[in-house]
Amino acid sequence: MRPFEFHRATSLDEALALLARPEARALAGGTTLVDLMKLGVEAPGLVVDIGRLPLDGIAPEAESLRIGALVSNSAVARHPAVQAEFPALAEAILSGASGQIRNAASMAGNLMQRTRCPYFRSHDWACNKREPGSGCPALAGADSHHAVLGTSDHCIAVHPSDAAVALLALDAAVAITGGDGVREVPIGDFYRLPGDTPEIETELRPGELITQIVVPRTALAAQSGYLKLRGRASYEFASASVAAAFRLEEGRVVEIALALGGLGTVPWRDPAAEALLVGHPLDAARVDRFCDALLASARPSAGNRYKLDLARGAIHRMLTRSLPC
Ligand SMILES: Cc1cc2nc3c(=O)[nH]c(=O)nc-3n(C[C@H](O)[C@H](O)[C@H](O)COP(=O)(O)OP(=O)(O)OC[C@H]3O[C@@H](n4cnc5c(N)ncnc54)[C@H](O)[C@@H]3O)c2cc1C
Ligand code: SF4
Repeated sequence: MRPFEFHRATSLDEALALLARPEARALAGGTTLVDLMKLGVEAPGLVVDIGRLPLDGIAPEAESLRIGALVSNSAVARHPAVQAEFPALAEAILSGASGQIRNAASMAGNLMQRTRCPYFRSHDWACNKREPGSGCPALAGADSHHAVLGTSDHCIAVHPSDAAVALLALDAAVAITGGDGVREVPIGDFYRLPGDTPEIETELRPGELITQIVVPRTALAAQSGYLKLRGRASYEFASASVAAAFRLEEGRVVEIALALGGLGTVPWRDPAAEALLVGHPLDAARVDRFCDALLASARPSAGNRYKLDLARGAIHRMLTRSLPC
């Protein structure tokens, strides 16, 4: 690990001022950042410990649930309001990592975690995300865990967060605080496609922090669920995952939201595809049409084409499950 300056922030203003320095990184639970520093993938000149800032607490308000950036993944998953009103979020969190990691991991850190692409995580390989312009060995290499949606000729790394997929289906937003105040960015706009700048992953700017996650309280959200398919039953990232919520009246869809994980360079959702289901029963043929539309832009290789079948199976399972009355 390269030498670095360490500062424990005692106020939000102090943290934001320090984080405006280009060499600075925020440290929350450390379960991603410290790993990457040990691997030499991240080498910040300044580490700003934000762990003591008052960014905790889960506050149910009339129209939304506000989750502090530093609330642990475990605390969110076991919170009664999350379990009752946003089951997809609780299930997504509990499907990830391990109990110990979820205890240490913060919610904002979860949303900001970096890809698990093995080339990115090893200095033995070039990587456009780690070192812009150096190349992407995954394009011609082992790519069975890589993305098929939202890819570019510069990067095909899959987005790793389970919680982000659930939050996308739940129409959540992140509250970002910077020198100019607070802005709320919908999760659907927060992550950037890799394009030709895969090193830029989110809309977060230097000198800003995620301070809250805002999840709208809706009847639809309470019907949500999360299904994760992966190589082993625990301690494994998604090969394909689905967060879905829908509401039927007289057997026909009146509202639906569905997000995919494990396939995209960003958590994936397509409102135009969802519109194809509204007004119709969720029969196999209609769900197939939805999958065709949702996956139409996929660019699979021989190594990761299997993810399309996994996603279709998971979508069918989630859309044909029976809902609690
Ligand atoms: C073995 C292992 C298995 C895992 N499996 C899964 C899994 O299956 N599914 C899954 O979703 N995740 C998984 N994870 C990832 C885990 O959820 C993340 O490591 C964790 O959520 C990161 O939170 P943290 O607080 O430790 O972040 P840190 O490591 O402290 O920070 C991570 C990043 O977020 C930034 N950051 C932190 N807080 C803020 C903030 N408030 N505003 C802006 N930026 C911020 C940091 O600067 C850093 O870049 C796994 C991790 C490990 C180690
Ligand atoms: S897929 Fe992206 S992260 Fe992985 S090696 Fe290529 S550029 Fe790097």
